Order: sequence, then C-alpha cells, then structure tokens
Amino acid sequence: MKIFNSLTMTKQDFVPIEPGKVSMYVCGPTVYNLIHIGNARPMIVFDTFRRYLEHRGYEVNYVSNFTDVDDKIIKAANEEGVTAEEIAARYIEECKKDMAAMNVKPATTHPLATQEIDGMIAMISKLISTGHAYEKNGTVYFRTRSYHDYGELSHKNLDDLRSGFRDLKVSGEDEKEDPLDFVLWKPKKEGEPSWKSPWSDGRPGWHIECSVMAKRYLGDTIDIHAGGEDLVFPHHENEIAQSTCANGVPFAHYWMHNAFLNIDNRKMSKSLGNFFTVRDISKKYDLQVLRLFMLSAHYRSPLNFSAELMESAKASLERIRNAAERLRDLASGGADAPLTDEEQKIANEAFEFIAKFDEKMDDDANTADALAVVFDLVRFANVHVPDGASPALAARVLKVLTGLTDILGLIVLTEKEDLDTEIENLIARRQAARKEKNFAEADRIRDELKAMGIELLDTREGVKWKRI
Ligand code: AMP
Ligand code: ZN
Repeated sequence: MKIFNSLTMTKQDFVPIEPGKVSMYVCGPTVYNLIHIGNARPMIVFDTFRRYLEHRGYEVNYVSNFTDVDDKIIKAANEEGVTAEEIAARYIEECKKDMAAMNVKPATTHPLATQEIDGMIAMISKLISTGHAYEKNGTVYFRTRSYHDYGELSHKNLDDLRSGFRDLKVSGEDEKEDPLDFVLWKPKKEGEPSWKSPWSDGRPGWHIECSVMAKRYLGDTIDIHAGGEDLVFPHHENEIAQSTCANGVPFAHYWMHNAFLNIDNRKMSKSLGNFFTVRDISKKYDLQVLRLFMLSAHYRSPLNFSAELMESAKASLERIRNAAERLRDLASGGADAPLTDEEQKIANEAFEFIAKFDEKMDDDANTADALAVVFDLVRFANVHVPDGASPALAARVLKVLTGLTDILGLIVLTEKEDLDTEIENLIARRQAARKEKNFAEADRIRDELKAMGIELLDTREGVKWKRI
C-alpha cells in the first residue's frame, strides 16, 4: 500500500511501526459553530482511509480531537452571553450528529483540549528545561531556531520565513526572541477561561494541544498524521518541532493532507462566508450523496462544490442502490443454497472486483478510481445476475457489492431493511421446513429467531412476527 507522504513529497510504501497496527491522528474542528462541508472533507476521506486499513486487516487506533478552547469560541460565547464551555459542548454534540449522519465512524478516542491541560503543562515544562522554550511575562514561546529541521514539512527555508516576518510587527509580540517563535502558553485576558500553570493563569496555544493529545493516546511516534492542507504551515510544522524536541524521537512517519473543498474555486471557509453547513446540505440531500460526492475526487485534488456535481453524485448513489436492492430482492429465500458450476464462475468473477478495488485504494487511497470499480461491479451484476437468477448467486454478488460500499462508508441498504429481510428469509425457510414435515429444522429456526429477539405468531393470516 502506498501513501503520498507530504513530508517527503513522494508516494511511499506504508510500513507501520507495529505490524498489523496503525496509529492515526486527524486534527479535528474548532467547535464554535456547526461544521461546514469543507470541514467534512477530512472527516470523510480519512474515515474512508481508516475503513480501508481495517478492511486490510489492520487494527487502527484513530484519534481525532475537538479544539474546545480558542479565541473564536470565546468570541461566540461573549456574543451569546454564555460560557465558552457551553458553546464548545453544544457544537461537539452537533458535530457528532453530523458525523453520524455522514456515516463517519466515531474515533477510537475524541480527546478534548481542555481535558488535557496537565499533559500540556508537562510538555511545555520539558521544552523549557531542555532550552527549546522560554517564558516572558507569563507567556511561553517555542524557540523555533532550536529545532534544526524546522520547515521540513512545509518545505520552507528558515531564512525566507524570517525575512517574510521582518516587516510584520505584531503588537505585544516584541518580547519574542525571534519573529518565528510561537506561543505555547498565554496568560488569560479578562473573562477568558483559564488554568493554573507555573507561568501564569492562562491557556495553551493551539499547536501544543495536538502534540500532547497525539502523545497521550498514540505514543511518541505515530504512523499517520492527517488534516487539511491549510494545516501544513504553521500548525503541523509546529507540532513536529514541539513533539520532536520534547520526545526526542520522530513524531509521525506519514503526513497526509487533503486538498480544499472549494466553491467558485475559492476555499470554503467560515471567514470568507462562502460556506454551506453539513446541516444545510442534509435538508436537501441524503448525506450519503455528500459522502459519495467527496469520494468522487482524489483527496489530494481540489474539489469544487456545485449543484451539478451533487446531482450527479445523487444519480450515482441511486444507481448503486438500485443494483443492491434488486440483488437483495433476488436473494430472498434460499441465499445459502450451493451454486451451480456456471454460477460459481460468475461469483468468482464478482469476487475479483475486490482485488481491483484494493489496487486502487492501495495507490494513495484513490477513492475516485475505487468508486469506478464499484460501478463496474454494478454493471457486471446487472448483466450476469439478471432477474430470475438464483437467490444464492444474487446473495454472493450482493455481498461483494456491499463489502466494497461498506469500505467507502456508503450505506446502500438500510440496516433495518437488511435485518427485516434476514428475518423474512428465516421465516420463509421455517415455513418450507414445516411443509416438508421437517419439524426439528422448523423448531431450530424458531429458536434462532428467538435468540435474535423475534417472536413468531401463527395467525389465521399466516405467520406474523414481532420484536420482544
Ligand atoms: P478548522 O475547524 O478550521 O480547524 O478545520 C477543521 C479541519 O477542516 C481541518 O483539518 C481543516 O484543514 C479542514 N478544512 C477546513 N476548511 C476546509 C476546506 N474548505 N476544504 C477542506 N478541508 C477544510
Ligand atoms: Zn492539530
């Protein structure tokens, strides 16, 4: 499997630190408002990559934070006359609802910056004691020039960066030793949330939060660190400097960055005001359409949001759903029967689509090409599993199709219907067993249904069932 590593700017073979395991950190949103569909892009593409790693047998420890202390949160709180905690708690809840609606799996851990202050104080203290940071009037700065490889991720040269900063006089920052130094801890201003520290009552800088949460939940060196490409500089560059200096080992082996979701070829962002929230889109579309739209481009290519592309994603999703539903209908009753030789050949061919799909995903998570393989399978199924095909064959091909759509996180059959079909199928088999006077089998099926929480009622109109 190859991943394009932003650190080396090349596609590299993926070799995890521990065989069979992957540790992955994805920078999460700052929670002061509903998330927009630009924020949804990293959520969807890296959730898909995680699902793919799991499909390939890796155990993935997936950590994604919520930045729940920040100037924007404080501003929103002041505007509403509520606490910053209330704003953050509200939008974390809302964000989790949006993630669930987009079928983004919850992370293994979703740490909150405000719950990790002790770890931040410990890392900052370590950086001060080793000469990588210094305190001035209650503020702690990272001494950027103390990290020789600074600029390695953004491929920036320290001298160029410094000359760019020379004209920039940021008020209140004259106390820095070097314009490139950045804040690790800052004293509180009136009315701001704050925590006690050896330097001042204050709060952490944004960059130190991710370094600490990654260390706590994943360790000093992690396999993959991901986020949107706007985070490369300075956020990720600063995370590398802090973590490497504090831990004394490389921070992340692979860096993955998604390109922007644009609108009229400009980055969708809250500050430009050119955004749609996930909630807005959910009023017009099933969010599976949004998910398919996001996956229809490679994650490193810019993607322009438009009504036409959403309509085309909607039609594509319907095409997959129609095929899946047709196969499910065909598969009802007798899905477990053996295949004829001819059917086995078709089933084997269908099975080969998994390898084709994997080949595309192995190439730096090329979801656009992987989706094309799903459409090839849909066409294959429409031709080789026509109406009238055996339930057993339809069931095999459906399993391949839903296996692939599950990796992409696309829901093509609703779970309830899935379960209902399974129940109906079992009932049909029980009826058939009774007809053949195979009462042992009929009773066995009744017990199996009971174990699933289903009670059968023999009525004059036939067999009815209910959940118990
Ligand atoms: P923020 O809340 O701005 O820190 O963003 C949370 C995540 O969304 C980060 O990984 C950003 O890089 C990403 N992000 C924000 N806007 C966009 C966009 N228009 N396209 C793609 N990713 C974005
Ligand atoms: Zn981060």
